[in-house]
Amino acid sequence: MKTCVFISGGGIGGLTLGLKLARCGIDVTIAERLTGPSPVYKGELLQPKSLEILDSLGVIGPVMEEGHKITDLELTELKNLKAKPEHSTMSYSILPSDYPFSLMIHHETLKGILLNEAQSYSTFHYHSQTMCKGIKGKTVILQDRKTKEMNELLCDFIIGAEGRSSVTRDHMGVSVKEKKYNHHFLTVTFPRPDQLVKGKIISTYQSFLGLFPLKNEEVRSVYLIPAGEYQSLRKKPISEFHQLYITMCPELEGYVNQLKDWKQIQLMVPVKYHSETYVKDHLALIGDAAHTVHPMAGEGMNMAIQDGDVLGELLCDMYKWDKLHPSNLEWYPKVRRKRVSHQMHLSHLSALAYSYPYRPIGWLRKKSLQRMERDMVSHYKQMLNISGLGLWRENLHDRMIQGGLLPIRKGTITSEEKDVSTFTRMQDYPWKETEALR
Ligand SMILES: Cc1cc2nc3c(=O)[nH]c(=O)nc-3n(C[C@H](O)[C@H](O)[C@H](O)COP(=O)(O)OP(=O)(O)OC[C@H]3O[C@@H](n4cnc5c(N)ncnc54)[C@H](O)[C@@H]3O)c2cc1C
Repeated sequence: MKTCVFISGGGIGGLTLGLKLARCGIDVTIAERLTGPSPVYKGELLQPKSLEILDSLGVIGPVMEEGHKITDLELTELKNLKAKPEHSTMSYSILPSDYPFSLMIHHETLKGILLNEAQSYSTFHYHSQTMCKGIKGKTVILQDRKTKEMNELLCDFIIGAEGRSSVTRDHMGVSVKEKKYNHHFLTVTFPRPDQLVKGKIISTYQSFLGLFPLKNEEVRSVYLIPAGEYQSLRKKPISEFHQLYITMCPELEGYVNQLKDWKQIQLMVPVKYHSETYVKDHLALIGDAAHTVHPMAGEGMNMAIQDGDVLGELLCDMYKWDKLHPSNLEWYPKVRRKRVSHQMHLSHLSALAYSYPYRPIGWLRKKSLQRMERDMVSHYKQMLNISGLGLWRENLHDRMIQGGLLPIRKGTITSEEKDVSTFTRMQDYPWKETEALR
């Protein structure tokens, strides 16, 4: 068997890349070890840049139909559970995009939309229940998990999109150094009150609850617990779990209580790593195979989509212009690596802000979030950087304003400032300008 591009893993990253290649008429084969939808919760928040990419892939219609728009993130700090809450709001609406909002969509629904669209192209081949077992040069070894039959597939390029444990990454000899955190999360989706339509983060100095509404009156939640506490929590009656949520957000009374069993609640263990290289010869890594990020800023799935877009555009041009030298793949990390590093840094900082259960940290967090909301430049930088639409680095001046050491800036962001900080088509796909493909 032969294919041009083989993708190991049919998660969000693999499917984005597969669809992009199929639209260019490239013969592409995905092997996915699972038979059908996974019951595991994964990323569900689509950032504006990902929405633009999904638009370019022709699937924005069904994605919008299945999603819930989030324009504002409301951050509420409770001094204690009886005190008046203090709010700040971060808004996507200030961003220069046709999609100035994020969108919550069930992970498996999004995968289904991408797969369905990709299967309308004759050059797209998808094998479920098929495991990539190993790689020998340009040949991949596949196993049908049901029949145990082994097959070999010859290909020009091999892309590892297997998520955290990656056969391709191992074959490339690329190691990753995992950073663990002092906390874990409980995560679960349950029915929500009608009025809960914004993204909400509610915290005290020692607790954190994130609420992200989905379509059909559901809400995905994440609740921070100290690392290692899950087993002892699970021994308690489920009513104690309900109470944790209701204490932080009384409007969830009658909704979270509909969860009847700890089995419905998943443990999420945040880790962070960034592989030292994304590319070796004719092999490349995308998504979680290349980098994993703390989920606090909602970036994991978006980074996989954005990798798939850049690598996909590059491969499309390589085939279109018949420039198939593997060294051309190096354009992909040239674009993605520093963007990924910055998003990982932001997610890590957000994680640290909520990691330590001390009153002064809670107070400082509340103060800097409120000042960030009012300081237009800080607000814009934060939303731009998490959106994936551009990069405008925070500096010491910004941090001093957020910390209250310098006054909040007056005025608005100029269109020139917006232009220079937003990625252009040539920054997304720089090889197009230089005609540098070999
Ligand atoms: C438990 C969990 C919870 C998460 N929650 C959040 C969240 O709340 N917010 C957030 O932003 N991010 C979250 N993430 C991260 C986010 O979901 C990922 O960043 C994103 O799914 C990465 O997409 P991917 O396609 O790179 O990898 P994956 O989604 O992991 O997809 C990889 C696919 O490859 C398949 N595969 C693996 N090995 C092989 C093989 N040898 N052969 C064939 N197929 C193979 C797997 O079955 C899987 O379908 C979570 C991740 C996990 C694991």
